[in-house]
Amino acid sequence: MGLPEKPLTKEEIIGRLEECAKLDADPYSGKLFTIAFESGSEDLRNLLHRAFTMFMDKNILDITEFRSAIKLEKEIIDMAKSLMNADEDGVGTFTFGGTESVFLAVKAARDSFFIKKGFQMPEIVMPVTGHPCYDKAAEYMGLKVVRVPVDQEILEGDPDAIKEAITDNTAMIVGSVPNWPFGTFDPIEKFAEIAAEKNIWFHVDACVGGFILPFLKKLGESIPVFDFSIPGVSSISMDPHKYAYSSIGSSIILFRKSFNKMLSQYVNLRWPGYPIVNPGVLSSRSAGSLAATWAALHYAGEPGYLDLARKILKARTLVVDNLEKLDFKIMGRPRSPIVAFSSEEVNVFQLSDEMLKKGWFLLPQRGIGELSIPRSIHLTITPIHEQLSKQFALDLEEAKLAVSKMPPSEIGEMAKGFGMIMGLTAGEMDYEALRQIMNKLEGYIDDYGPELLKAFGLEEGLPQEMATLNELFDALPPEITELLVNYVVTEIYRKGL
Ligand SMILES: *Cc1c(COP(=O)(O)O)cnc(C)c1O
Repeated sequence: MGLPEKPLTKEEIIGRLEECAKLDADPYSGKLFTIAFESGSEDLRNLLHRAFTMFMDKNILDITEFRSAIKLEKEIIDMAKSLMNADEDGVGTFTFGGTESVFLAVKAARDSFFIKKGFQMPEIVMPVTGHPCYDKAAEYMGLKVVRVPVDQEILEGDPDAIKEAITDNTAMIVGSVPNWPFGTFDPIEKFAEIAAEKNIWFHVDACVGGFILPFLKKLGESIPVFDFSIPGVSSISMDPHKYAYSSIGSSIILFRKSFNKMLSQYVNLRWPGYPIVNPGVLSSRSAGSLAATWAALHYAGEPGYLDLARKILKARTLVVDNLEKLDFKIMGRPRSPIVAFSSEEVNVFQLSDEMLKKGWFLLPQRGIGELSIPRSIHLTITPIHEQLSKQFALDLEEAKLAVSKMPPSEIGEMAKGFGMIMGLTAGEMDYEALRQIMNKLEGYIDDYGPELLKAFGLEEGLPQEMATLNELFDALPPEITELLVNYVVTEIYRKGL
């Protein structure tokens, strides 16, 4: 398809886009328990749309042309600093997502390590529950990630495991409040102590927690201290596009001191063009999200966020009570707005598909067999769930009953067999094996790719029911699954299915 010979009219364009939007889940329905952070306030939503479009065409790249970015960002960062108890020296950068904030923290930690120790392979040590954006940053910027086990019962980070993994090459320690899979907290004070003692950069991942935990604490919940009031904390990431309910593409990275922000930035005057000064990973950036975030923080304010936090607590109590009534096992101690549960009675991958048939989007998670972390379902609870959690309980009960009557899934065993045939069980997977596979990958894909898509029913695009794929992801070594998923998603985009 080329560009249209005859351009479409505005009405036709909007009509087609409306058609296209029907492919999507409704982010305002309250039926999404993942990724959609919905306040339930239409008034706030309309305000964000206005703020976003007002600044959409301003490019933060050039602050000499668009000076508003300096002012809006300063006020956003100041509010974030006060939530995280930063002092006068604290600085920050507005970014377009938690991943970008983490990239900046990793770059600064890496360069600070190089300054202290010279060039050697820097390592990031973190609990296994840490977000994959650290692996991503490490891969992009030449570091290595060491993931260590968490406490099997409470699923919180284990200081002894962190201590044991530290070497002369450790450039960064990461703790999450909370982690994404289970919503449990790493012991930040203990991690900070270890980091301070060894003079290692300590990053607190409060991407999901930063804009909710301070308010839960004010409501009397038991939330441990995790911010700059702990001396060993070097940087904190927190995402307004999560519990500040701002537009998607809003995050903040805070640094304890100015010099560390300098290490996170990119400046280049080596070409004949304009000076490149990039506080973030991207260069040209629309100021839309920045304005929307400024608007969200001022609209809700302290009382608004407290109110929304109250609604979350109410919804969480209802959800947890219902899960327990249905004999699901809650993972760890739910102290954040994230609740995860497992089941010894039913296959949770199939349960997730059954719930999808009733319009609910849950997030199935594979777990890690070797560490005795079972597969589970993750729920991100947001204020809008306050209204809907009774219906959720009814549907969940029905779905559980339906799944309990289903035959057990065979695909898991099949996939395990597939892994064995390739001679690569999880334990044996190593870099040399992976290198050999990557070396032959292009040929394999030409030969077997289309067959593979057909075998898993993917030649028509993403299936509605994901249990089969989830079983497969669970059964194969992650390194293999990563290649498969990479291929499948490339194909889905290529074909536009
Ligand atoms: C959301 C999140 C991130 C980053 O995710 P983005 O999708 O890039 O915003 C990192 N860590 C944790 C714990 C998160 O919840």
